[in-house]
Amino acid sequence: MYYRCMKINNVNLKYYYWVFEALQKDNFKCINCKNDNFNDLIVHHKDGSRKNGQLNMNNNLNNLETLCFKCHAKRHGLVKKHPEIIEMVRMGLSFSEIGRRLGISRQRVHQINKHG
Ligand SMILES: [Zn+2]
Repeated sequence: MYYRCMKINNVNLKYYYWVFEALQKDNFKCINCKNDNFNDLIVHHKDGSRKNGQLNMNNNLNNLETLCFKCHAKRHGLVKKHPEIIEMVRMGLSFSEIGRRLGISRQRVHQINKHG
């Protein structure tokens, strides 16, 4: 599965230097709500990484911004009741991992993902 935006973890930080550069530029905080929880952060491509319908990863610093899951979901117009959960599922996090981060059960995550 391919994601336009890069979630932050140690592997991505190690292999994608632009992820680190973007985080550093934004002081390791969501530029919208100033959330600085490392596990919540995403590096977002302002141009959507697409040009004429083709994949076009523009990793120039001026095309990147640091957002948290919640603000990122809003940016992409995922305006459901629990946008951050929908977003985390979309980014490929498992239900158990999402539950662990939010302090709710895996079953509850499943329920929210299904019914909003
Ligand atoms: Zn935010």
